[in-house]
Amino acid sequence: MNKMLILVVEDDKSVRNLIVTTLKAHNYRYAEAPTGEEAIMQAASHNPDVILLDLGLPDMEGVEVIEKVRGWSNVPIIVISARSEDADKIAALDAGADDYLTKPFSVDELMARLRATQRRLTYMNMSPSPDASFVNGALRIDYAANTASVGGEELHLTPIEYRLLCLLAQNVGKVLTHTFITQKIWGKSMESDIASLRVYMATLRKKIERDPGGPQYIQTHVGVGYRMVKL
Ligand code: CA
Repeated sequence: MNKMLILVVEDDKSVRNLIVTTLKAHNYRYAEAPTGEEAIMQAASHNPDVILLDLGLPDMEGVEVIEKVRGWSNVPIIVISARSEDADKIAALDAGADDYLTKPFSVDELMARLRATQRRLTYMNMSPSPDASFVNGALRIDYAANTASVGGEELHLTPIEYRLLCLLAQNVGKVLTHTFITQKIWGKSMESDIASLRVYMATLRKKIERDPGGPQYIQTHVGVGYRMVKL
């Protein structure tokens, strides 16, 4: 039985109905908002577990909704955007969205994102001492010792690889944009930093993934960034 409450923010009635019907079929609870203003009100009054947010709203930019909601809440926000809104999607992730779906999306895709979000929420709530160590499948980071291992085998990471791994782990389940990552690692985000990031990500993957060609831990989001998947 699924008791998560999902706030569906979407002005297009047919898309909203599709989402709501799917949620109902999977025993999620839901609330609906057709505008940004309504979304902010409902986010405050209903305290949803997840917000599905269309970026193209009639009364305000989706990014504005994210900024307002982030003022008081860390609720996971999954952005829904059209393919032509790639820049908006990246701005939304940088404003604090967790994930995104590109229209047109399948209901299977939507359900997979919700399950992934649920896994991450469970992990965040159950993790006994989130500050001391991080465990995801066979991957383990010991923050106190500054070491990481896979299947008990210690990894030999460079300082930048280790910081990258920690940044992804601390945001497990979230899509991190190139700009966000390079800002955190190098304090700036030039084209050359994004090129370096690709190189470091490739070497990090070789060390942590069993098959770097079919990565299990770190997903690439082409043109957007990277995400560590909660296994
Ligand atoms: Ca819309």
